[in-house]
Order: sequence, then structure tokens, then C-alpha cells
Amino acid sequence: MFTVMSSDHSLANCDQPITPVHHLHGNRSVPSACTLDSPIQNYRVKHCLHHSESERLTAIISTMSQTSSPPLIDSFGRVHTSLRLSVTDRCNIRCFYCMPEKGAEFVPKDNILSFEEIYRLARLLVEQGGVRDIRITGGEPLVRQQVPRLIKMLAGIGKLEDLSLTTNGMLLAEHAQALREAGLKRLNISLDTLNKEVFAKITRRDGLDKTLQGIDAAIKCGFESVKLNTLAIKGVTEPEVAELVR
Ligand code: SF4
Repeated sequence: MFTVMSSDHSLANCDQPITPVHHLHGNRSVPSACTLDSPIQNYRVKHCLHHSESERLTAIISTMSQTSSPPLIDSFGRVHTSLRLSVTDRCNIRCFYCMPEKGAEFVPKDNILSFEEIYRLARLLVEQGGVRDIRITGGEPLVRQQVPRLIKMLAGIGKLEDLSLTTNGMLLAEHAQALREAGLKRLNISLDTLNKEVFAKITRRDGLDKTLQGIDAAIKCGFESVKLNTLAIKGVTEPEVAELVR
């Protein structure tokens, strides 16, 4: 999988070779602040990026636009067709395995790519880099305003075959219909427990009911698939795994 994050610890891509994403939902452990740079054919990460992200992105896009690029190939010769796109590093809960309870530091909003910049980059990666499926992630992507607008933009990219979103589900009940209408095909919903107390212990927030409402709303909206991502945590959620599967 090829990863781009639209934030300062981000616009991340492979770092010789392309690195796997460490967690299905959160991105706290993803290497920081890198971008695509020349030689563009290898899509290697060469430089860290702290300021002027938009300017650098513009340069990257300009380079890609002028280059007849081969597919995304890492140093092991693997062809990558999946793009994981983080639209925010913020989240409305604080899973203990992802964020500190207090004092989490986030990228200044000015350093986060606009929807238009994300779209331009995604379109180039699809049309010239061979990307065929995009997964929107965060943080929690639905805490960013107007995500359905971004979905609609990405869904209009001609060669894109699959568009999915990973969410903790807490805001899904209010956004599911708009996401489906915008062209989102699949949803991955993170849910580690069906027990309210365990949920609060893991996430340091109340919200199991909201997540379950979000799952119900998603099913009613007719997505091509609604999957659960569950982390089996030793001594915390292990006894529930079978129940979650049912
Ligand atoms: S829901 Fe939020 S806190 Fe929990 S793993 Fe995902 S991004 Fe991290």
C-alpha cells in the first residue's frame, strides 16, 4: 500500500522501500513529514517537509504532470495500486494505543492540504501512477468538515476503481447518506468492543451507542461493503472477539 497524508507528518510516502501502514485507522506511528521527490520515477521519499507544503506539492504535481510516469514500484519490484489518504490527524476519541489521553499535538491547520490539492495529487497518482483504489483515513476523517465534498471529487476520477473510507463510526449516522450519494463505495468501521465500559476504557470517551448507530446507518445506505476493523487486545477485548464476529 502506498500512503499519502495531507498533513505535516505526512504527505508521506514510501521510504525506501515503501513502508507499510502500521495501523488500520490511526496514523500516529507512521513516519513523519516526507514527500515525493526526484527521481520521480521511483517515488522515493527524499526530504522531510515542515513548511511550504503546498509549494512543494505544487512542484511535485508539476514534475509528475510533465513526466510519463511508470506505475508505483518499490525497491522490491512490487507494483502498488492502493493509495491511503489521510485527510486529518485529529480524532474525536483517544484510543490508548494511538493517542495520549491529553496533550496530543496536531498539525497546524494551515499545513494541511486543501481538498483541491488532495484531488490534484490523487488524480495524478491514478492517471499516471497506476493507483486504482483509494482509502480515506485520518485520524478520524469525518471530523474534517465537508468530507463528502472530497469524496465526490475523488469519485469523479475516471480510472479509479474503488473508493473507501475508514472511520471510528461516531459521526457516521449523520454523514453516511451524504457519503454514499457522493460516490463512496465501501466503509471500514473500527470497533474493538460491544461493551460500553470497555469502549470507554479503550477510547477514553463514551460513544459506543453512536458507533453502533453509525454502523446501522451505513448498512441502510447500501454501501457495497461495510466491514469492521477490530483489534483483539490481550486482557481487554479477547473474550469478545467471537461475539463481534457473529
Ligand atoms: S479512532 Fe482515533 S484515536 Fe482511535 S485509533 Fe483511530 S485515529 Fe486513533
